[in-house]
Amino acid sequence: MSHAFVYQGLPSRVIFGRGTSAQLATEVDRLGLQRLLILSTPEQTALAERVRGLLGARAAGIFSEATMHTPVDVTERALEVVRSLDADGVVAVGGGSTTGLGKAIALRTDLPQVVLPTTYAGSEMTPILGETQDGRKTTQRGPKIQPEVVVYDVDLTLTLPPTISALSALNAIAHAVEALYAPDGNPIVSLMAEEGVRAIFDALPHVLHEPGNPVARSELLYGAWLCACCLGASSMGLHHKLCHTLGGLFDLPHAQTHAIVLPYALAFNAPTVPQAIERLNRATRSDDALAALMKLEHECSIPLALRDIGMPHEGVARAVEEAMANPYKNPQPVDAEGLRALLESAWAGTGV
Ligand code: NAD
Repeated sequence: MSHAFVYQGLPSRVIFGRGTSAQLATEVDRLGLQRLLILSTPEQTALAERVRGLLGARAAGIFSEATMHTPVDVTERALEVVRSLDADGVVAVGGGSTTGLGKAIALRTDLPQVVLPTTYAGSEMTPILGETQDGRKTTQRGPKIQPEVVVYDVDLTLTLPPTISALSALNAIAHAVEALYAPDGNPIVSLMAEEGVRAIFDALPHVLHEPGNPVARSELLYGAWLCACCLGASSMGLHHKLCHTLGGLFDLPHAQTHAIVLPYALAFNAPTVPQAIERLNRATRSDDALAALMKLEHECSIPLALRDIGMPHEGVARAVEEAMANPYKNPQPVDAEGLRALLESAWAGTGV
């Protein structure tokens, strides 16, 4: 086999394990920070208060208005708080919504970010920020966006309800799947992707039945971390672009859209990416990764059709039009007819 690739490591420090939040103050001291603004969603204010306790005098305040898709008006309110407290860094504790707010602040101020993730969405390992303004979502990449330190504390994930855990973990699998056939993929990313999918497939069924099991939660978070590294390091294809289009057009929930579209997008690309399929077969311990994925999704008791999460049927034509107007790299060339067939199946949930 011949190889030709570019590998760019992303600079971030990762602390992983159970009870690692206890190391937060030490990590903040390593960065020389003294006045941190803690970020959370309104639902996770109690957790933000716990983080304030862990930081002691290093905590300058809490801003707990983080929300999905990083609206710019929320960021502007948070920036006012940053200025009024003279904060010298942010600590984001939560899922992708909270991490997104930290990234949006860092983009505008270059303040260092420490993230304590509590879901499997993976934003903490990427230099990517999606923001919304006036109903439009734009995405950008850049070094200021990448968080400096990520403290993965398995104990913070124990409270994530099983269904949200499943959706979030399937979102993580989607990152790894597309990294396996990315135009800028490389051997390191492929190793991480295969191992990430393996860990999630092994752990998720256990987490569904026993959400408080720390061993299964640890394996799941480990897999999600690997998948997140894949997302940060490679360009995504049809699946991610389509989910972005659908989310924007019909205001569909992020993780649910990913979970529903993934098998159809993978089936679309499968004939052109045999090496990715070979890795996914190994990762899913099966000879048919697509069937294994559908089986796992059924076990998760989640919606399996776009029509069940609010997409109107006439939306299929609109989504095809929009997706065709914004071309992107994908292993299998995307034509309107193929895309329409994919979306019709995903809309009705016919399976692959
Ligand atoms: P989220 O952050 O919106 O969290 C979902 C809900 O679960 C929130 O109400 C949150 O408070 C709650 N929650 C989170 N962790 C919990 C826990 N351990 N216990 C109990 N409740 C908990 O959802 P998400 O899926 O993590 O993130 C979605 C957002 O992240 C989207 O805006 C998406 O676009 C973005 N995202 C960005 C990237 C990137 O690289 N830029 C990657 C993935 C996702």
